[in-house]
Amino acid sequence: MKKEDFIPWDFHRIFFGEAPAVFVLEAFIRTFLIYTALLLIIKWLGKRMSGQLTINEMAVMLVLGAIVSVPMQVPGSGLAQGVLLLICTLSFQRGMSWLGYKSKIFERVTMGDTVLLVRDGLLELKVMDENNITRQLIFSELRQNGLSSLGEVDRLYLEASGIFCLYRSEDPVPGLSVYPPDDSDLSETQKQVDHLIACKNCGHVQHRTEIGGCLNCGENKWGKAVAK
Ligand SMILES: [Zn+2]
Repeated sequence: MKKEDFIPWDFHRIFFGEAPAVFVLEAFIRTFLIYTALLLIIKWLGKRMSGQLTINEMAVMLVLGAIVSVPMQVPGSGLAQGVLLLICTLSFQRGMSWLGYKSKIFERVTMGDTVLLVRDGLLELKVMDENNITRQLIFSELRQNGLSSLGEVDRLYLEASGIFCLYRSEDPVPGLSVYPPDDSDLSETQKQVDHLIACKNCGHVQHRTEIGGCLNCGENKWGKAVAK
């Protein structure tokens, strides 16, 4: 639009843009048709699109959103072009899944990988750092599973889809509390093991007399070791 053509407070332009008012009716029909096409495409993409998404599926979802907006809203754009782009995206996603099925390396690069966050009650600090996972996120996940300390964890994995996968220890040991630090009433209900202390950085538990830093990570911040 040229500067001289611009009329401020032109309510027709504000509501309908540069298209005639009757385009609203056409936009309704366009939206219905594109929505139907999008539903079919998502159905063909598979069940997983409606659940937790891998990074590959998330990328496809965002592209689908961008593709459908133009044919629904722009009067000069045809529907066929939008549907063609949707089919291209579907083929691309199917091709990526097929390559991922054929090649483990390709799958790892495009879908992400399963990572181990807690091993035998110890936080895997390097993995957490690489994946931007905070302690509070891990503790929150453990609390939701009814756990009170890291000592009850055998393994905690983070799947490529973003879901946590917890394996409880069959033989829980004293560990770092995962309760919110601000809730002193809740913390007092825990059974503290007096002769042990737990590293707040990595969860390693050692004897109270072993001073001079955590034997696992070297940090010197301590919390109470609690037993189940
Ligand atoms: Zn430590």
